[in-house]
This record gives sequence, structure tokens and C-alpha cells, in this order.
Amino acid sequence: MAKTLNSKIPAGPVTEKWKEYKAHQRLVNPKNKLKLDVIVVGTGLAGASAAASLAEMGFNVYNFCIQDSPRRAHSIAAQGGINAAKNYQNDGDSVYRLFYDTVKGGDYRAREANVYRLAEVSNNIIDQCVAQGVPFAREYGGMLANRSFGGAQVSRTFYAKGQTGQQLLLGAYSSLSAQVEAGKVKLFTRYEMEELVIVDGRARGIIAKDLTTGKLHRFSANAVVIATGGYGNTYFLSTNAMGCNCTAAVQCYRKGAYMANPSYVQIHPTCIPVHGDKQSKLTLMSESLRNDGRIWVPKKIEDAKALQAGTKQGWEIPEEDRDYYLERRYPAFGNLVPRDVASRAAKERCDAGFGVNNTGLAVFLDFSESINRLGIDQIMQRYGNLFEMYEEITDVFPGELANEINGVKYYKPMMIFPAIHYTMGGIWVDYELQTTIPGLFAIGECNFSDHGANRLGASALMQGLADGYFVLPYTIQNYLADQDIWGKISTDLPEFAEAEKAVEAEEDRLLNIKGKRSVDSIHKELGHIMWEHVGMGRTKAGLEEGLKLMKELRKEFETNLFIPGTKEGVNIELDKAIHLRDFFTMGELVAYDALHREESCGGHFREEHQTEEGEAKRDDENFFYVGCWEYQGDDEKAPELIKEPLEYEAIKVQTRNYKN
Ligand SMILES: Cc1cc2nc3c(=O)[nH]c(=O)nc-3n(C[C@H](O)[C@H](O)[C@H](O)COP(=O)(O)OP(=O)(O)OC[C@H]3O[C@@H](n4cnc5c(N)ncnc54)[C@H](O)[C@@H]3O)c2cc1C
Repeated sequence: MAKTLNSKIPAGPVTEKWKEYKAHQRLVNPKNKLKLDVIVVGTGLAGASAAASLAEMGFNVYNFCIQDSPRRAHSIAAQGGINAAKNYQNDGDSVYRLFYDTVKGGDYRAREANVYRLAEVSNNIIDQCVAQGVPFAREYGGMLANRSFGGAQVSRTFYAKGQTGQQLLLGAYSSLSAQVEAGKVKLFTRYEMEELVIVDGRARGIIAKDLTTGKLHRFSANAVVIATGGYGNTYFLSTNAMGCNCTAAVQCYRKGAYMANPSYVQIHPTCIPVHGDKQSKLTLMSESLRNDGRIWVPKKIEDAKALQAGTKQGWEIPEEDRDYYLERRYPAFGNLVPRDVASRAAKERCDAGFGVNNTGLAVFLDFSESINRLGIDQIMQRYGNLFEMYEEITDVFPGELANEINGVKYYKPMMIFPAIHYTMGGIWVDYELQTTIPGLFAIGECNFSDHGANRLGASALMQGLADGYFVLPYTIQNYLADQDIWGKISTDLPEFAEAEKAVEAEEDRLLNIKGKRSVDSIHKELGHIMWEHVGMGRTKAGLEEGLKLMKELRKEFETNLFIPGTKEGVNIELDKAIHLRDFFTMGELVAYDALHREESCGGHFREEHQTEEGEAKRDDENFFYVGCWEYQGDDEKAPELIKEPLEYEAIKVQTRNYKN
């Protein structure tokens, strides 16, 4: 019999679902909250906001992170902003419009009811963060300022210069710290979850390693919340922090949690291009720059060739010889088309030979027009730290006057190229954010929830904080309402001992391979396979080849890996090897999902399925569902596909159009 998934979405029109849900949900008796423990793994925006909120409501929270402080979670890197439907600009925004833009941006592959709920709570997030003292940018009159991000024709993105993630995280961290002080949150920094413990079919705890001593510890709770971020680093080079990994999520998958839509990976159009094979990280230039920066390549192939040879510079090419290809192809949205569209358009121009750097893999992002219009001071006020970051990395200051042709001033442009940035896929969750394992919840980037096949800019922070502050603290109570009968879960149960033993055995196995290759050399090779075969343009043959190469490389990992040192004390190479083991599982999952999805949608572009104009061609008749995968073993066995059909009632499913 085919397996089915129950997303627990209550019946009724989409706009009423969340209200109806709240009316019927069970709440935990306040006295019982004190008896209930919740483990929250992760202190990024999703984890920190959830841990603080659950503690404030009365639950006892155990909160874990791999960094030395919650403030160092990857969320700190978020630059551009966070969306909300406040309509402060009076430009016609509304909850419905944010909902509509997000569903359309995700290429009609998100769960409609979840997205509505997300749009509805978006405004509460801004109020919450302002109350915490987050210094959002303000207009001269004191009103919170907004800018535009891709896929929207209104200004709804709230920001704190180019440091929005950091400021939001400081806000969440202050709430978290208050709960630590109150004794309601126990914080475990430099602890890494290695294994999920299941007792009688329910998530009851974790095995975590103290990264400073190498010792394993057991933790039990009435429910476990995973908030461990995305799997972008499967590709080795990405905009993600170096420490981002998918080990916790993959361990949940191995224990029975389904992984949903893994092939939906976001490639961000505005990153500093790769400049050599010794690089271990890529740097994002925020999407906010597309508000005032214009993207172009030369119109003439001879100009492109001269740029590639270094005999000409961008500022020597006059206006009439520049091809602002996004403005040309998508007049309604111009430079603010969604990321998947902008990335593919850059690739198309570079594939056609118009790339502007020595590798031919870059396009220009130019501020000449906006600096001439607004002045450099105004531009620096908006993007100063991003300009400085770009200069620090490339030694080029994008605001420097470089040339004047026919009375028009030209400034040095940035060079950008698409790079792996965000993962829309992740652990499958129902409407309550519960996974297929009872008592195990997943929030933030590590779940698949709200972005469909493509996330719009400034929507990840919105989703992480919606999950953490406003959704999970309600929905988890439906599960916890009858959990107090269990009392404290003992870590002496045999399930804990077995899980701990399994982690130890795995560490010994990896240490004893004693081969010749370093973790990084194998990871780099995996990343190369992923980018070449499972990257921006995918084909059936390429994906099959990618899977074959990954399986061969996994064998190399299993037999020729070298990890120096022992499992006692700090052993970063051992930690990285465990992450790499799980990147293999994730990489194969991405490829399996991309192979089965014989259509193009959002960030998933199958070259066999495109329109004559090179746009993504969906197949709603056959692929209008969430693709969920059930683990069948790490050997040759492919995971099993389970489908959650999508149902739309408020929005008409149609072809995405950003042209008019
Ligand atoms: C450069 C950059 C800029 C961005 N800018 C924006 C933006 O402007 N707007 C926007 O909306 N989004 C932006 N994003 C995306 C957004 O920042 C992330 O999607 C979001 O911050 C993820 O938050 P999270 O809480 O889900 O996970 P993370 O912030 O990744 O936090 C994960 C947490 O889990 C912990 N952890 C991981 N594994 C384990 C383990 N095994 N055991 C214990 N702890 C573990 C980590 O220590 C960390 O605390 C940007 C992303 C990047 C890379």
C-alpha cells in the first residue's frame, strides 16, 4: 500500500486555517509546563527564538550549539533584511500580497496554508524585534525604512544596514540570555548533536559531544526540536559559514524522519566569483544591492574578449554598448527578478561567451547610475559595509570614480557570479512543524516548509523567526499536552546506551581507516561533482553520472580517509569527517530527487524541460507534490519516494511571469 503523509492542515479556506487551528489546539496546563523538558538543537535565529519563547512559556529548555556562543550561529551572516507585510510605504502591500509573492516566488511548489500563516505572522516579528531593541534602519521622520528584494514590486524588506542577521540574532540572544539567567534555559555551547535517541517510537533525547573534550553525553527530554540550518556546504564552496553542516538533520533522516524536496537548492546570483582552487568559501554580496546596482555584460563579443584578456576595463565601455540583460528580458521586475531567474540569466550570458573576468564566469553589478543620481554618500549610507567588504576581498572599491565618457561618470563596478546559498529542501514537517517521528520537530532552514522550489530574498529570516517565536511555541503544545504523564525520561534506558555506543563505534571506524586523503580533499571533490552535475543546469545523463561519481567517491572516503589524532580532546578533522559522511548522504539525496523530478521549477532546472526562451517549464500534472524521501540504508539502496500532494485553493496555479 502506498504510504501517505498527513500534513494536519485543518479544513476550511486558507485565510481561516491558522485561526481555526489556534481555536482548536490543545494547550499545556501551566503547572505541567514546569515538568516538561524540551531539547532545542541550534541557536541560530530559529533555535534561539524558539528556545527563548518555550522557556518564557514555562518549559525547561536544553539548548545546544557548536559555536562558542549562540551569537556566532550562521544567522549572523544575513545581510540584506527581513520581509514583513506592514505596508509602511503605502505601496499596496498586504498579508495576501506577501503570501501571493512567496507562493509565486517558490514556483507553486510550497504548501499554500503554511505560507499564508507565515505572511500573517510576519508583522508580529517586526514588532517583537523592535521591542527587543533591534536597530532597524529608519526614515528621517522616525518610521522604519524599507527596501525591495527580488520577486516583489513593493518595498517590504526591513533592514539594519547590511547586518540584519547579526542585529536580529542579538535581539533573540538577549531574550535567550534572560531565560538562561532565570534558570529556564540550560545552554550547551561547543556541543554537537551526534545522534537522535528514540524510545518507543518517540524522539526522547540526543547524544551530544562536548567538542572541547571529545566526550559523549546523553540528554533526554519530552520533545526534541532541530534548528540546525541548511545543507548548502554539501557543495563545498558556498556562501554558508564554514561550520554549517547537515549531520543532525541526516541523523534524524537515518532514524526515520523524511527528507523533503532536497533538490530545491538556491543559487544566489550576486556572489564574489571563484578565483582559484585554493578557496574554501564564497562571499555573498547582498541582494539588497540590486535595488540600486544594475547588472550588465557587454553587447559586443569583442568587448567581452578584451575584458577576459584584461586589455579593457568595464568603465571603458560606454552606456550604449552595455547589455542590461535582466532589464531587457524582464522589464516588469528588471534587476529585481527572483534569484533563480537572475542566476540562470547570468549563466546564459556567460555560456554565450559574454563573461567579464579572466575565467569568463562573472557579470558586472554597477552603481554608476545610482551614484550619479543619489551621490556616493547616500549609496554608502545604504551599502557602506558591503562596499568595504567587497574592497577588502578584491581590492576594488565599487564607489571609485574611474572614467567619464560624453559627460557621463563611470564608477568601478563589482563583479559577481552565482553560488550555492540556501537550501529550500529539508526535513519534512507537518503543519505543526512535527516530523514523521513523533516528538521530533524541525524549524528554520533545516525544514522544507515554506519556500517551495525557490526562496525569495529576506524570507529566510522571516521563516526562521516565525517558526521560533510564533508557530512552534503553539503547535508543539498539541504534542506536549499529554506528555507530562511520562515524567522525566531516564538517560539510563538501553536506547540511550545503544545510541551512544553507535556514535563511539562510528568514530572508531573513521579513525581506523588510516588512509591517505584528508577530509577537505575529498569534500572538495564531492563539491565539484555536485556543482558540475547537480548544480544550476541539470540533465538526466549528468545526474546519473553525478550519482555514479558520488558513490565511487564515497568508497574512497570509506577506505582511504586519513584523520590525524584520537577521539579524545579536540579533533576538528574527526568532526569534519563526520560532517562529510553526512554530506555524502545529502548529496546523493539531492541527485535522486533532481533525477526523479522530470520538470523545471524554481531553483531546480532540468535542461530537458525549458521553454523556447530558456525559462523553467513546470509539469503540474505529474509533479504537483512535495517529494519526500525515506532512508533505506547508506549502501547502494536508493531512498524510497513518498508524495505529499499539494492542494491550492486561494491562489490560481499559473506559469510564473516576471516580464510584465
Ligand atoms: C551570507 C548570507 C546572507 C544571508 N542574508 C539573508 C538575508 O538578508 N535575509 C534572509 O532572510 N536570509 C538571509 N540568509 C539566509 C539566512 O541567514 C539563513 O537561512 C538563516 O539564518 C538560517 O537560520 P537557522 O536558525 O535556521 O540556522 P543557522 O543560523 O544556520 O543556525 C544553526 C544552528 O544550529 C547549530 N548546529 C548545527 N549543527 C548542530 C549539531 N549537530 N549540534 C548542535 N548544534 C548544531 C549551530 O551551532 C547553529 O547554532 C543569508 C544567508 C547567508 C549565507
